[in-house]
Amino acid sequence: MKSFLVLFLLLTGTCSAQTDKYFLLKADHVFDGENMHSGWSVLVKNNKIEEVGTIQNYPANTQVINLTQVTLLPGLIEGHSHLFLHPYNETSWNDQVLKESRAERTARAVNHARATLMAGFTTVRDLGTEGASYDDAGLKKAIEKGVIPGPRMIVATRAIVAKGTYGPKSESPDVDHPQGAAEVAGIEDLANEVRTQIGKGADVIKIYADYRWGKDGEALPTFSSEVIEVAVAIAKSGGREVVVHSSTPEGMRRSIMAGVSTIEHGDEGTAEIFKLMKEKNVALCPTLAAGDATAQYSGWKKGIDAEPARIANKRKTFQLALQSGVTICMGGDVGVFTHGENAREMELMVDYGMKPIEVLRSATKVNADVFGYANKIGRLRKSLFADIIAVEGNPLDNISNIRKVSFVMKDGVIYKTPLVEGK
Ligand SMILES: [Zn+2]
Repeated sequence: MKSFLVLFLLLTGTCSAQTDKYFLLKADHVFDGENMHSGWSVLVKNNKIEEVGTIQNYPANTQVINLTQVTLLPGLIEGHSHLFLHPYNETSWNDQVLKESRAERTARAVNHARATLMAGFTTVRDLGTEGASYDDAGLKKAIEKGVIPGPRMIVATRAIVAKGTYGPKSESPDVDHPQGAAEVAGIEDLANEVRTQIGKGADVIKIYADYRWGKDGEALPTFSSEVIEVAVAIAKSGGREVVVHSSTPEGMRRSIMAGVSTIEHGDEGTAEIFKLMKEKNVALCPTLAAGDATAQYSGWKKGIDAEPARIANKRKTFQLALQSGVTICMGGDVGVFTHGENAREMELMVDYGMKPIEVLRSATKVNADVFGYANKIGRLRKSLFADIIAVEGNPLDNISNIRKVSFVMKDGVIYKTPLVEGK
């Protein structure tokens, strides 16, 4: 019996060594998540990165892929997506929530997932299905099983909102509309919702810390710090983080004190609030592209008209955030604008004053670190997943080069390559 076992182990051992699959990716420039290098290559073994640097020796069965005049990067990480939404200038958010069937929304999400992956975004943190229940958890499973192509997904399922604050709003108090998020009234409700979402597959919990529920439609805080703290405590004991939608200084302050991981939007952030964020290690995901898109949907002719006040303010607060040294995630709120155009956020980050190298870091290692995935993705480093992309030229010369994606590998599988694309 013993000798059989030894023989079996020997055979399987030999077998797997023979079937190991290697790729050597060669390019002009390699951005490893930290810095730009010349003369480097990346060796991939199965679904993991085996070696990065000036590689001389590699197994004989290695498939060498020479990518000329390109930059290799870790697969990009979208920090704020909604795969179950499509641009509001096509269909308003209200009508998407109220008039599109779950089947239609899923069909669209399948297309969005493919477009995202092909644009070089191999991971998304998807922050709420907005009325499509837990379908992000199902979409994530379908991608993992190889049913459809798409990015790795970090899912929030339903965002959590204070009862009576969110939408779609009804014209009549006698009619209740289905809501775009999960409503909770108090601590018990919230605790129950957080636990339910985790059970249904949530990787991260998203809470609206403020929303436009003021008498005149102004944004006001929705939960006390103590309430948000309860969500943070439950999420953290389950190895998860809480992220908040917040634009008001008070909503942001309460969230920071409650121990959230990131603040989404932060439009009215002040120097003082950003300082507090830095102190408490809370990152900002500014979603510049969402504001830029919605301003254009409501009539702003970009490049012709002067910048609307909202955009000018956003530019200012982003610069305040940069000066404060707060950690900045890359996340555009894509879904408000077209999936696959995630790079718009990166272009705007540069336009609003961030250095291109910092923007690349933000979309790779910073997002991986902040989201708790540093041991899996975000860098070209031995033993991380082989999520690797190539773009034409050098994105440090022109950040828009990040759109010229010629090669996409996720989990060691090639989804896009110039060798096939040209045919
Ligand atoms: Zn969003």
